[in-house]
Amino acid sequence: MNNGLTTASAALLSRLSHGIQKHPKRVTAALALLLLTGGGGAFAVASFGPDPSELPVRLVEQPVESLASDATLAELTDRPGFSLYRSDNVRSSDTAESLLRRMGVADPAAAAFLRRDTHAQQNLLGRTGRLIKAETTDDHRLLRLTARWAHDDSGDFKRLVVEKSNSGEFTSRIETAPLTVSSRLAGGVIHSSLFAATDASNIPDGVAVQLAELFSGDIDFRRALRKGDRFSLVYETLEADGEPLRSGRVLSAEFHNQGKSHQAVWFQEPGTTKGAYYTLAGQSLRRAYLTSPLEFSRVSSGFAMRFHPIHKTWRAHLGTDFAAPTGTAVRTIGDGVVEFAGTQNGFGNVVFVKHRNQHVTVYAHLSRIDVRPNQAVEQGQTIGAVGATGWATGPHLHFEFRVNGQHQDPMLIAKQSEAAAPVSAAARPAFNRLAAVMRTQLASAELIEQASAQ
Ligand SMILES: [Zn+2]
Repeated sequence: MNNGLTTASAALLSRLSHGIQKHPKRVTAALALLLLTGGGGAFAVASFGPDPSELPVRLVEQPVESLASDATLAELTDRPGFSLYRSDNVRSSDTAESLLRRMGVADPAAAAFLRRDTHAQQNLLGRTGRLIKAETTDDHRLLRLTARWAHDDSGDFKRLVVEKSNSGEFTSRIETAPLTVSSRLAGGVIHSSLFAATDASNIPDGVAVQLAELFSGDIDFRRALRKGDRFSLVYETLEADGEPLRSGRVLSAEFHNQGKSHQAVWFQEPGTTKGAYYTLAGQSLRRAYLTSPLEFSRVSSGFAMRFHPIHKTWRAHLGTDFAAPTGTAVRTIGDGVVEFAGTQNGFGNVVFVKHRNQHVTVYAHLSRIDVRPNQAVEQGQTIGAVGATGWATGPHLHFEFRVNGQHQDPMLIAKQSEAAAPVSAAARPAFNRLAAVMRTQLASAELIEQASAQ
């Protein structure tokens, strides 16, 4: 199975490389289609069923036209009495009128209905970013308006439907339906920052953050990215009625940083409740300590780590300062027990976490403390929020890593800290199959990136 797969993968890649030189757009679209329609099942070990040798054939012969919504629209507009469809997102400034106007609706009765309907009031206006779709007659009267959103992690989404009945009256209802999971391939090249690159490739922020976090033990995304670094990844998208509603988990990723390539694949050992990221060789990417007490974000990525001058006035500055807005979540970088949570002169609101081997981490100037003394905490758990309490000129997190009371470079400690267990022997065959699929997909994502850059 493994050999067959590897051979098929190699064949697929060689055909793709060949095809891409001839018809870059066509192969890109076809490949994207295959990976979209292939769905999440292709990545789950349990459902790893279809013969991979069929993939190349289906892949390059898939007609691109099936992706083009313009064709459908052209066809529709040739007919009398056609319906028009338009999709958009709710904006914070939207009124019933402005929303409908943007959706191509000219229908005062529909606007009046939206203004007085309870469902629409609660779930439409003021709900910034919510995905909406309108269907109208050819003279722009509203036939149906739907809004979709997922408000929790239940795996379901809600759908508001405003519809014109046969008698000409509008009605509204709220429905619940399951989200479907599909997979997307993407890639990018760093020109200025990670977020600039992910924006250019239409990769959601949530996925960019996961990418930075999962490689954070090997790559310093705040300081060590270089122009020309590139990445490819496969991630889940949760869809409602075929429209992407939110991004899910990164399934695999590859990052070329300063000439070195790093790879990761998400894998959950059978019989366990938690998955983790591994190298394609099965080594865990999880270490005893995270490299940063703040999650990588669009806001914090713009701030370089700095040493704060104010501390020089009250003692030698032993620590790393992270500038970030007040309220940004602060997390413990490792498992441990809260040794102190309260107020100290200079530090303001501060939390000390005791880890194994006489290691202690310190989180100071907090605006809020979320833990109690003697409480057990897990790596990544939020313990408070960034603030400016104590002797601080502005909001920032003062962070220290102490070994036997001596301050150490936290980044260095994290990088050198012990890795979690590799994939177990029992789970190896399943992992190797998954890794082989991911290898092919990452290589395909890279080809797509090259083709779309041409
Ligand atoms: Zn400091």
